[in-house]
Amino acid sequence: MTFAFDNSYARLPDRFYARLPPEPVEEPGLVKLNRLLAEQLGIDADALDSAEGIAVLAGNRVPKGADPLAMAYAGHQFGNFVPQLGDGRAILLGEILTPAGERFDLQLKGSGRTPFSRAGDGRAWLGPVLREYIISEAMHAFAIPTTRALAAVTTGEQVYRDAAMPGAVLTRVARSHVRIGTFEYFLARKDSDALKRLADYVIDRHYPEATRDERPYRALLESVVQRQARLVAQWLGVGFIHGVMNTDNMSIAGETIDYGPCAFMDHYHPSTVYSSIDHRGRYAYGNQPRIAQWNLARLAQALLPILDVEQDRALEMAQSAIDAFPQRFETAYLDVFRAKLGFREPHPEDAELVTALLEAMAEANADFTNSFRTLCDAVEGDETGLRAELGACAGLDDWLARWHLRLAREPMAADDRAGRMRRANPAVIPRNHRVEAALDAAVEGDLAPLDALLEVLRTPWQDDPTTSAFQRPPEPREVVRQTFCGT
Ligand code: AMP
Ligand code: MG
Repeated sequence: MTFAFDNSYARLPDRFYARLPPEPVEEPGLVKLNRLLAEQLGIDADALDSAEGIAVLAGNRVPKGADPLAMAYAGHQFGNFVPQLGDGRAILLGEILTPAGERFDLQLKGSGRTPFSRAGDGRAWLGPVLREYIISEAMHAFAIPTTRALAAVTTGEQVYRDAAMPGAVLTRVARSHVRIGTFEYFLARKDSDALKRLADYVIDRHYPEATRDERPYRALLESVVQRQARLVAQWLGVGFIHGVMNTDNMSIAGETIDYGPCAFMDHYHPSTVYSSIDHRGRYAYGNQPRIAQWNLARLAQALLPILDVEQDRALEMAQSAIDAFPQRFETAYLDVFRAKLGFREPHPEDAELVTALLEAMAEANADFTNSFRTLCDAVEGDETGLRAELGACAGLDDWLARWHLRLAREPMAADDRAGRMRRANPAVIPRNHRVEAALDAAVEGDLAPLDALLEVLRTPWQDDPTTSAFQRPPEPREVVRQTFCGT
């Protein structure tokens, strides 16, 4: 089994990581293999499906060319700085170059203890591993930047949480695993040389255009601000709540990373929180833009020592990059929601129309996903679904009249418009009750519900009779109120 490894992170100085192999497991068993992703990566899926391949996915065999390591990073968790976190239950096997010339990290998550494990066991269990698999693949299908899942294997070992659970390892694929917290790690150590090395590394890998700027580090910061603004706007567009937007869980490449207690909203409310550990709603749906900006300010702070030798100048650059976030976010947000409402070009009244629709949804306790979906039918003249979702809202007719006037500014054939809107408004999301049901069955050894869910989520824009059950919001008895980190 061969992989096209080229491990640039392992060539950074020793203090960036701890070099060690994954810890072997008792009895590897393949649960899911993402064959399409393997193909894109230029990895032979049949070989991964063999005993040798499964041994690699379980961490029992280190493939030729890999240079396994645990990355060092710090981070602000719920606002509090922790100077050392790091990969406590993950091993970066290395980076592979795809046939298309792209570079991706291959990481095993749940691969045993590392010097960063603290009190943890370095392991993961099947529920959260498959949860990340489902949700990250759904995000990919929504065209939202995300880490991906190449495989999930069981370990044949028990992991002890509230009870004994089947151990598992996820193979995660990412553009990189550098986080805001990676920069904070070196700031906390006053290691400006490492900050420079890291910034140069990130520019080279993710933001090569910044090298052409007279101020590459400022350009880097501005680019990360831009990508995060767009990412969070896209999350809001599908009702996604990350759940733990700690700075160690924010990718510098602007991908969604670290799927823990994340969730998709059913009925719309901006204060929606699912995470069992987010008692104050810090990471509630509607707080995510504000938190992204707060996190970016931590990145800006970490870059201060290298932005300029004059600290006043550095501070000014950092501040202006962070101050630009609200506008960048607003622009990205309106891009996302304009498409959802069936508009093409920006227009001054758009923001107000979006806000009014969301307020109507909150008032009617309407399902977020299905409400937007019914708008697609409404442009084709069928308002039945829309009225069923939003009929309880007093201002609905007024809003509809304004929306139709706005649509008329950009004449388009109804079916063309509806088609575009359906692409921006998924019919199927990984609804919490569906995810839980699939995970419960998988843990009991029945993979059929998981497979069915993954299958519809591959083409979430389509609706046909086979997907209608997946579009249904939970019955009262099915409602999932809390999601867990599952570490
Ligand atoms: P997370 O909440 O998943 O972002 O993880 C926060 C920190 O806790 C990271 O440093 C993880 O590596 C570490 N961690 C989480 N779960 C475990 C575990 N089971 N064993 C060791 N470290 C862990
Ligand atoms: Mg994390």
